[in-house]
Amino acid sequence: MRLGMDGLFLRGQEGYEEARADRVFNRRRPDRFPDAVLVAADAAGVAAGVKLARSRGWQVAVRAGGHSWAAWSLRDGGLLIDLQNLTTMAYEEESGIAVAGPAVRGGAELAPFLASRGRSFPGGHCPTVGIGGFLLQGGQGWNSRSVGWACESVAAVDVVTANGSLITADPHQNSDLYWAARGAGPGFPGIVTAFHLRTYAAYPFLWHDTWTFRLDDGETLLDWMHDLLPTLDRRVEPVIAATRVPYVPLDPGVEHPGGTVLLLHTTVMTSSADEAAALLSVFDDGPLAGRRLGHVRGETSLAEEGVAQEGQNPTGHRYAVDCAWTDAPAAALAPPLLRLWRELDTTHSFSIWYGWAPSRPLPDMAFSVEGNVYIATYAIYEDPADDEHYRDWVHSRTAALPGAGVYLGDTDFTRRQDRFLSDANVDRLARIRAKWDPDGLFASYLTADVAALNRPARAPGATAAADVAGDANRPGRTPGPADVAEGSTRPGRTPGAAAGVGRDVDVDVAEGSTRPARAQGAAAGVAEEPNRLG
Ligand SMILES: Cc1cc2nc3c(=O)[nH]c(=O)nc-3n(C[C@H](O)[C@H](O)[C@H](O)COP(=O)(O)OP(=O)(O)OC[C@H]3O[C@@H](n4cnc5c(N)ncnc54)[C@H](O)[C@@H]3O)c2cc1C
Repeated sequence: MRLGMDGLFLRGQEGYEEARADRVFNRRRPDRFPDAVLVAADAAGVAAGVKLARSRGWQVAVRAGGHSWAAWSLRDGGLLIDLQNLTTMAYEEESGIAVAGPAVRGGAELAPFLASRGRSFPGGHCPTVGIGGFLLQGGQGWNSRSVGWACESVAAVDVVTANGSLITADPHQNSDLYWAARGAGPGFPGIVTAFHLRTYAAYPFLWHDTWTFRLDDGETLLDWMHDLLPTLDRRVEPVIAATRVPYVPLDPGVEHPGGTVLLLHTTVMTSSADEAAALLSVFDDGPLAGRRLGHVRGETSLAEEGVAQEGQNPTGHRYAVDCAWTDAPAAALAPPLLRLWRELDTTHSFSIWYGWAPSRPLPDMAFSVEGNVYIATYAIYEDPADDEHYRDWVHSRTAALPGAGVYLGDTDFTRRQDRFLSDANVDRLARIRAKWDPDGLFASYLTADVAALNRPARAPGATAAADVAGDANRPGRTPGPADVAEGSTRPGRTPGAAAGVGRDVDVDVAEGSTRPARAQGAAAGVAEEPNRLG
């Protein structure tokens, strides 16, 4: 069968498997197989791909940078349009607007391109993340506490629509699509071929401040940071990372205690070194000042921070990831969070507490759920036999946190769903999808249970304790619907392949307890529901 398009790989043809899977960052690449993959040459190629899909009755999935943890770009059947060639970058001095293709990597490519022009943009912390998925879902980037979600700095988008037209959406034309492009993520009803980005003057100074503490000091650290957070300058970005990598700051003569330690890692962008030092001095006199294992403060650069991020997020590894916003006080958050942190058991697995503390209402855009603190956990391992174990663990332990919604970027709705849009915005997005994509050409959110999409995981008033209670320590779990969702090729977990912590989690119970309204016998398997969001 010839379809006459360069870069088109039909299932079964040579090159198909590489085109299907090689650009998915997560080595845990699901067994979902599109009918064909089109590596589009440019925006015109994208439009041709959309028309081809229409003519063949294919649904369309999209890949830009390939960094979706859950591999949203991989769907069963239909056409995957890969945007890897859409990497042009331009900068207009007069307006300060940069125009960048969706497969541009925010840290590795856009940041140096802008820095050489004295400009900056809040790209993703890990330098290889593509701006396509990152911006559409919100974008938590460098200096975001100060300049907001990265999508707030999107001035316009060029979009291939469901009928194959190439249009521009901004506040004055096609403004509903522009609204959706800032937060809808994979629910966006079109393919963005270029982002027009407001840029910022580059800060001359980026400083970091990194303290190493024992895991046993976690409760005190959380108490302290929850107290300090409301007072912190917006340019100060505090993260507590529970990490097991051995190369952490240690004072002379101090030995790593082994296992997991806590890093209080803060960055700040300022116009002078003195200002940076002054802003960071608030960390000097905390309750743990005498208990540090190590401390380093000084100038850094996005490139150096990027190297650290890549070290923490190695390629070639398998990832199971989940996240939660929380407005809970430290006293309620600490017990389940410390339990999770104590159970980290691979060299690279880590979990972060990110002090976000929203200080203003969000602008009118699809993105609409955030909270005081962001918790995200990344189980990182290499053996496919450990997939089920780590997926069960990360989602059940995250469900046990006193959460209030999620950020799309660190979710996997095939295993655990929660609210990521306000109710009003879900309805508005559904109307926009119905208008721009009435036939459901574009694949929407990847979820095991369409009916539960955007449903709060926690019933109002529910406590974390109730969730933990459901998390019975039973050996041997019964496969649940989510197991079906990921396909059947998993060999089953090798006994003793990883340390046993958390191995006994029954995720079905944990998930069930946090989804009160889920219907008995709700659809198993990965479901895609075009033009309805749940
Ligand atoms: C190592 C690593 C570090 C990360 N760090 C951060 C971080 O610091 N901050 C943060 O916010 N997130 C972070 N993320 C999450 C990341 O931003 C999201 O996974 C994001 O979706 C990745 O975008 P992508 O284009 O690379 O991914 P892809 O997998 O290519 O895209 C994800 C989905 O977005 C949609 N999409 C992408 N591009 C387009 C387009 N042009 N038109 C229409 N739909 C499109 C499609 O549905 C696509 O399947 C990180 C992820 C990884 C793997």
